[in-house]
Amino acid sequence: MGFALTVLTCEAGRTSGYLLDHDGRHVLIDCGPGVVDAVQRHVSLSELQAVVITHAHADHCLDVVGLAYALQFPVPREQPLPLYVPAEMTDLLSVLDGQFGVPTLPALRRPIASSTELHPLELDDNSPIEIVPGLFLTVRPALHAVASAALRFSAADGCIAFSSDTGWTDTLLATAEESDLFVCEATYLQATPEELTGHGHLTASQAAQLAHDAGARGLLLTHLSALGDGPQALADARRHYTGVLDLARRDSRWTIPTS
Ligand SMILES: [Zn+2]
Repeated sequence: MGFALTVLTCEAGRTSGYLLDHDGRHVLIDCGPGVVDAVQRHVSLSELQAVVITHAHADHCLDVVGLAYALQFPVPREQPLPLYVPAEMTDLLSVLDGQFGVPTLPALRRPIASSTELHPLELDDNSPIEIVPGLFLTVRPALHAVASAALRFSAADGCIAFSSDTGWTDTLLATAEESDLFVCEATYLQATPEELTGHGHLTASQAAQLAHDAGARGLLLTHLSALGDGPQALADARRHYTGVLDLARRDSRWTIPTS
């Protein structure tokens, strides 16, 4: 019962992926390079009930083609896998299907379209979507170079929020409000205004300030540019945030409520 979060991959500019479990159901969040391999260390692909991709940067979505191949070959999945992406991403998925479709294998002619049930997300529509029974997703626009979805998963027994890639924006406060765990990007220790709001990223200090202002009960810093920055990122964050605080690491697992 309840929530559990497994970090699959979490390095800025390289790859990003998380496995969210709720009441025995499994949702994949982001699909960066290597995530298809990483998730299968924890569940089989046939056990996934939904996939949510936050935005169309390669470190967050490139393995969606590999996922589609794996769902279709050698035995095509019986039921298409629900795939939630920002509406602005749908053209990219079509391009990937056109580029990587295999005309000589019927199941792989358009692998993404064949293996998934596409749900384009309108980021300004804050209506909760029941993506698996009892688990609701609310999306809001993050502040990033491309359309980027901040995610709030809520159920009767808890709430977990994801910043996606983003600069500081007040929509993150609503996403993370009173959450049990806020998984927030902390790409930099220090950065220029252009990096923070021109492109759209956060420092560890900003992530912690957001978690504090939102009343989040736990904060997981993720998407660091350099893993060696971890200790300093935690120290910077601690100056702004007194709740449960940790650093995302591959294969680390959190349960909700945090402790
Ligand atoms: Zn990005």
